[in-house]
Amino acid sequence: TVSVVLFTADLRLHDHPPLRAALSSADAVVPLFVRDDGIEAAGFAGPNRRAFLADCLAALDAGLRDRGGRLVLRSGPVVERVCEIAAETGATEVHTAAGASGYAQHREERLRRALEAGGRRLVVHDAVVTVIPPGAVTPAGSDHFAVFTPYFRRWSAEPPRAPLAAPRVVRVPDGPGSEPLPSRAAVPGVSPGLAAGGETEGRRRAAAWLRNGLADYEDRHDDMAGDATSRLSPHLHFGTVSAAELAHRARKAGGPGADAFVRQLCWRDFHHQVLAARPAAAHADYRTRHDHWRTGPEAAADIAAWKEGRTGYPVVDAAMRQLAHEGWTHNRGRLLAASFLSKTLYVDWRTGARHFLEWLVDGDLANNQLNWQWVAGTGTDTRPHRVLNPVAQGRRFDPGGAYVRRWVPELADVERRFVHEPWRLPAAERARYGYPEPVIGLAEGLARFKRARGRD
Ligand code: FAD
Repeated sequence: TVSVVLFTADLRLHDHPPLRAALSSADAVVPLFVRDDGIEAAGFAGPNRRAFLADCLAALDAGLRDRGGRLVLRSGPVVERVCEIAAETGATEVHTAAGASGYAQHREERLRRALEAGGRRLVVHDAVVTVIPPGAVTPAGSDHFAVFTPYFRRWSAEPPRAPLAAPRVVRVPDGPGSEPLPSRAAVPGVSPGLAAGGETEGRRRAAAWLRNGLADYEDRHDDMAGDATSRLSPHLHFGTVSAAELAHRARKAGGPGADAFVRQLCWRDFHHQVLAARPAAAHADYRTRHDHWRTGPEAAADIAAWKEGRTGYPVVDAAMRQLAHEGWTHNRGRLLAASFLSKTLYVDWRTGARHFLEWLVDGDLANNQLNWQWVAGTGTDTRPHRVLNPVAQGRRFDPGGAYVRRWVPELADVERRFVHEPWRLPAAERARYGYPEPVIGLAEGLARFKRARGRD
């Protein structure tokens, strides 16, 4: 017998329940990835993620070849392609991971119907993408948690799944041809500092992180210049590192650093369970609707300044320039940039979320849209009216200004006391630095925010 394993956001061989199940019930498996034109049409394939994906597919193919197999790549409409492969190889089952988004849920339904019509079976595996499946824990009277802390309590009490070893041998039937794998070098418009993808690289990074970074995580995760977070988010997004395995290994290491890190992995699961229960939250306000976002030419000019990292607020600009350069930026930078756009400039969070999704290599519907909603005060934040002050936050999380100096070279030799508020420098000196004036004063931004929220 033959089974198909459809890879989606789980591009790895270690800790892979669908592959394990297929190998134990069939004589041979077809490891399949479909470059789904539905995802491309939705504008969900920015250059950085396409380039990272090329690395991931190359590594997956190499890992399969080491075990006697190979990856089969097809492109086009995913349901049709899977059915074609199943028919070509006489496969009786297709194994795949459950996804959280509306698109993934709909894909699963369509695939199940199409396979069943041909007398075949779809087997969907939970807890491949997240540590625990969305919906595994629920509060009384609801299908999902809307508040993080009680979710975290219940999530922490769930018995962890032991990670699965990678298979030693993967037998792939002769026959099903593969399209050539994409090459990272052929993707135009990629950020120059984009990290490398693939399972080997992800496992190397995870091991180095657990050994060298984890213990200090609690103390250092907000040090913007220190860059002391795991940078595993793109690997978690593409599934080249298993979230369940990572949580398992961090818990085993123990200590305050590990506890703080595991809590962040729980935030990832939290947003996935919100999106799985409310797929519309990817575009519609989740909890509180706001209608008075700024639009028109003046807002358009502010949006352009924000995207290009020239708002005149150094820490916001630094975060936006890091995003363009690396396709990744620090969590504190994301918070400050998102708060500035949605609350100080009062621009619809969807505009910012779309821009992030275009650039972020870890750009993820659950994490991106729901973090944006959290910041904008339309989502799950229990204090939706807080506005982050980029000067105070800059002083606190980048006290020496090293992060700003790294990404905003105009300010490289500005005195420390002015680095987060260069508009306080004498005019002649300001002109010499050639750094933009603030697009808006913070007091004015705050007053506008309060006015707008008063009308909502
Ligand atoms: P670490 O600090 O090492 O954390 C470990 C892992 O925990 C991360 O890799 C991530 O998977 C998870 N995690 C950490 N913080 C969060 C969080 N707030 N929400 C959900 N998961 C979290 N993360 C994404 O993976 N994709 C996105 O598209 C994304 N968009 C964001 C947009 C905004 C406006 C904000 C404020 C945050 C966003 N985040 C997103 C969450 C967070 O900023 C990144 O996960 C984190 O910065 C990635 O760096 P790291 O791997 O070094 O994180």
